[in-house]
Amino acid sequence: YTTGKLGRLTVVGLGLIGGSFAKGMRESGLCGEVIGYDADPVARNLAVPLGVVDGVAADLEGAVEGADVILLAVPILAMEKVLAQLAQMSLGQAVITDVGSTKGAVVDAVVKAFGAVPANFVPGHPIAGSERSGVEAANAELFQRHKVILTPLEGTDPVALEQVSGLWQVLGADVEHMALADHDEVLAATSHLPHLLAFSLVDTLASRSENLEIFRYAAGGFRDFTRIAASDPTMWRDIFLANQDAVLRSLDAFTRDLARVRTAIEEGDATALLGVFTRAKSAREHFS
Ligand code: NAD
Repeated sequence: YTTGKLGRLTVVGLGLIGGSFAKGMRESGLCGEVIGYDADPVARNLAVPLGVVDGVAADLEGAVEGADVILLAVPILAMEKVLAQLAQMSLGQAVITDVGSTKGAVVDAVVKAFGAVPANFVPGHPIAGSERSGVEAANAELFQRHKVILTPLEGTDPVALEQVSGLWQVLGADVEHMALADHDEVLAATSHLPHLLAFSLVDTLASRSENLEIFRYAAGGFRDFTRIAASDPTMWRDIFLANQDAVLRSLDAFTRDLARVRTAIEEGDATALLGVFTRAKSAREHFS
């Protein structure tokens, strides 16, 4: 991290992601002060005793006052409200960044609030998480050796971009840049669609099974495939509403391919089935 010691870092939303960022930055000793704000008084009361922040503010305005960097880590559908409030406040030269899992929706909310994307706004998304949520799940090591994708826009200030990259690197993350539209398309395919399949499969099986008896016979494959169906339902609702177009494209492509597999099974087409499974096995073996 090369741009020097940071004065005040403010984290808005002290859940799994915001709390982990705040805690990691606090432990790094890089910031003069890490201040947090959360709409939930329970999270506000726990954040200091859990060592997540140095102090909490009772409201958003108090939290962002004098901040050098503001990290927004609220659920995607809450971003719009927080950004609209921030646009009414005097933020000085503060760099603003976010961790929203979809980027188009957050940038749309920024435009709605500020009229245009300010040069000191840096959209970001850490590819790290867990099935846990809330301030008690905050973990300073959460981002170590994980990718963080920043999706700068044409007008993004390079100094602000460098500063946000530096903060993630302090937490041990591997920062990459990506075009915003590419981010939402890639994540729809590699993260959103798999979560949809896991949620849907478990829901289908659960609704067919008396007293969930069927899960007694579930083996490792089922466990591996459906682990992500234990993820936070509210967060995932937000993601599908926020990334609707890209998710639908990905889902349509998958539905077409699944229909072909169905036909192959129906017609006893061994060659087609073997083709799909062999290609998938070889593709899967290319990443660890
Ligand atoms: P979380 O539920 O653990 O935390 C969200 C926090 O925001 C909660 O403490 C909640 O009280 C607070 N909050 C809600 N509305 C608020 C408001 N208006 N003002 C202030 N605080 C408010 O969720 P999380 O997993 O930390 O997710 C936060 C963001 O990170 C989301 O935008 C999500 O898309 C993104 N993200 C999550 C993951 C993941 O795997 N969990 C991974 C990458 C990015």
